[in-house]
Amino acid sequence: KYQLLDPEAHPDRGDIDQYSPYYSPLEARKEIHIVLQALEPAEKHARQWQRQATQILLNSDTVNHEYLPILGHPEFNAAAARLILGPESSAIREKRVASVQTISGTGANHLGALFLSKFYSFREDKEVYLSRPTWANHPAIFRDAGIKPAEYPYFDPKTTGLDFNGLLKALNAAPERSVFLFHACAHNPTGVDPTQEQWKEVARVVLECKHFVFFDCAYQGFGSGNFDQDAFAVRYFANLGIPLLICQSFAKNAGLYGERVGALHFVVEDSEMVNRVQSQLSLMQRTEICNPPSYGASLMILIMNNPELFEEWKQDILTMVNRISAMRNELYRLLTEEFKTPGRWDHIVKQVGMFRYTGIGPKESRKLVEIAHVYLTENGRVSLAGLNTHNIRYFAEHLDKVVR
Ligand code: PMP
Repeated sequence: KYQLLDPEAHPDRGDIDQYSPYYSPLEARKEIHIVLQALEPAEKHARQWQRQATQILLNSDTVNHEYLPILGHPEFNAAAARLILGPESSAIREKRVASVQTISGTGANHLGALFLSKFYSFREDKEVYLSRPTWANHPAIFRDAGIKPAEYPYFDPKTTGLDFNGLLKALNAAPERSVFLFHACAHNPTGVDPTQEQWKEVARVVLECKHFVFFDCAYQGFGSGNFDQDAFAVRYFANLGIPLLICQSFAKNAGLYGERVGALHFVVEDSEMVNRVQSQLSLMQRTEICNPPSYGASLMILIMNNPELFEEWKQDILTMVNRISAMRNELYRLLTEEFKTPGRWDHIVKQVGMFRYTGIGPKESRKLVEIAHVYLTENGRVSLAGLNTHNIRYFAEHLDKVVR
């Protein structure tokens, strides 16, 4: 007799990090008035670049429903690599990038973890160092791939900023050739990123300790409003020759959540290695999905390769980041000036990206859900993209109530 697993009893149930009917059957039953979770970048305004690309695609004679190659659309992989590594990238010029199209960022993380589990020469146990805290799915993805999740200090609750010394200490203390996962920009859930100077110091220690870097880049553009600035760490590390891989998602920055558009790139030492990595990736991809989905990738090829659409996309990202920043300022003003809410709130304006790590605990988070129908994860993370001029006062008022 088969028994269905009780979702509550599942060890990773507590990690589920979004209140969405698709995530949790329990939450689906609740009436959701305000869902503080990711909204489209420029949903209400434009997204002309997306609509235009869709029109071009649908009107094109070449549109079809054929399989893509196993590693994905070569033009998509090349444009995606250019976006993250930069048009001037020496790794691209020297053909040292092995790319594969993936099922969005999650698929890239999974395939990257599986690849390391099979082929990386771990010095001791198969372990990956994850930031404390990190995206709730990271530990589960690595565990499933047979890699034990370990942690490095990242967020300092006292300063609600980066625990830079803790991070450096962990890099130095880990065995040589350890694998460290870094969020390339707009860290989820904290919204705390190292400065460029701090990244340079991290890179120096990583190089010295011969560590491997697993970059997860799910929010390129959301940190600063600029694709290039948000790719700083990845490009800096790649230029230093640090062995690394990059997981790339177009879910958030291109508003293509449901299309599952992503890529996994390995920056390696020479083009001979590219062939070897790609041949292994092909085998792994084949047993799992065979061929990645074509529609979203075709849209992204048009958007990334057409200068006008690309420009519009960049503008929308900036508009959206500015909007979130305005929400941060207003929330800060409401809490500190109007409501005089007890506690420190300066992190609201210091953090970047679409999330805000409030620093409130599970008790207060649950209370917000119960009394106000404001949905956030239990670790106190809200998505600022869900705030607008109509609901921000309501949110601030209730946040004030639950912390008093
Ligand atoms: N990495 C991080 C850090 C994320 O926050 C997310 C989305 N929550 C992902 C990867 C994966 O997103 P997707 O599979 O939708 O691209």
